[in-house]
Amino acid sequence: MTPRIFRAPGRVNLIGEHVDYSEGFVLPAAIDFASTVAITPRLDRRIHVHSRQFGEAVEFPLENPGDFEFGHWSCYVRGVAAKLEEAGCVLMGADLAIDSDVPMGAGLSSSAALEVSVALALATVSGFVLPGLELARICQSAEHEYAKTRCGIMDQFIAVNGVEGHALLLDCRSMEHKSVPIPPAVRMIVCNTMVKHQLAASEYNNRRKDCEEAARIIGVRSLRDAPEIPDNLSGNPRRRAQHVLEEIARTREAAAALISGDLTQFGSLMNASHASLRDLFEVSCVELDTMVEIARRQPGVYGARMTGGGFGGCTVNLVDAGAVLGFRETVEREYFTCMGIKPQIYVSAAAAGARELT
Ligand code: ADP
Ligand code: MG
Repeated sequence: MTPRIFRAPGRVNLIGEHVDYSEGFVLPAAIDFASTVAITPRLDRRIHVHSRQFGEAVEFPLENPGDFEFGHWSCYVRGVAAKLEEAGCVLMGADLAIDSDVPMGAGLSSSAALEVSVALALATVSGFVLPGLELARICQSAEHEYAKTRCGIMDQFIAVNGVEGHALLLDCRSMEHKSVPIPPAVRMIVCNTMVKHQLAASEYNNRRKDCEEAARIIGVRSLRDAPEIPDNLSGNPRRRAQHVLEEIARTREAAAALISGDLTQFGSLMNASHASLRDLFEVSCVELDTMVEIARRQPGVYGARMTGGGFGGCTVNLVDAGAVLGFRETVEREYFTCMGIKPQIYVSAAAAGARELT
């Protein structure tokens, strides 16, 4: 039997950082890097899954997908299968072969690409067509429970709903969304600093706590509802709240700038976002700051900022299509001169969301 092939992309967030858990706005785009799953149904109720990246296969029964070593890559596959069944999709057993070119652990959401490609494959061959939001929520809860990562909905949502040539303005409270065209004359360039500092996970939780405390002091459910920063808010909660309120406003402005084709304005909002993440939210690091500073000196660059949780990982840059080659060469050389590390640089158009390949 010829396998059916499903594919779901990674993503980059153009602006709207550390605001999803305050129910703000984000503006991600799917990228040309994706997880691909070849699936062949089986007659029994077992899942056999091979990952080309890990060179390893795992098999488990659908009756009991949860019996595994914590932290193993198969937790995403087991979680997705378990959550689909909990949602009422009685799945067929299947052989799955996974192949992905989304760099792992770099902040481009290889995990959501994997979850969504597997979920779409399993549901479809078993005869289920799920609404996009439900598919994204199933994948998110698989990641919460099986990978123990309390991620927001952005990554899975854009992996499902990405639109070619467009970013997606997503309201993380109402889940209303709108696709915003990215002018064909520019490229998104992602620069991987190749570092991930230890404090990333613990500081992420600390920032969430600061935001919750700020919301409590202001007396709102989440910072999305705060009309302004009151005088009695001080210290870290004040700085974090200021970032969140301004970043939410910036993201809406940025979407408007993109709609009107004002790339210069969009780029300066990206730059302001980086400054705020560095100075108010304090989640940048010397490698991210260096990468951004080098990038901004290059011709054809509209804006550069850290993207993702921070403390390493990637920056995102909006660059004229004609300036990409020069950008790549110079940024690679200068980052190596400053930091002694060879970065990885990925160029991408905005890609489509998950689908079956025919
Ligand atoms: P990110 O989503 O930013 O890339 P995460 O830590 O959330 O980083 O997810 C990375 C993890 O996802 C990997 O450690 C691995 O467990 C799983 N994963 C991603 N891609 C694959 C793949 N092709 N095969 C198997 N597991 C994968
Ligand atoms: Mg992830």
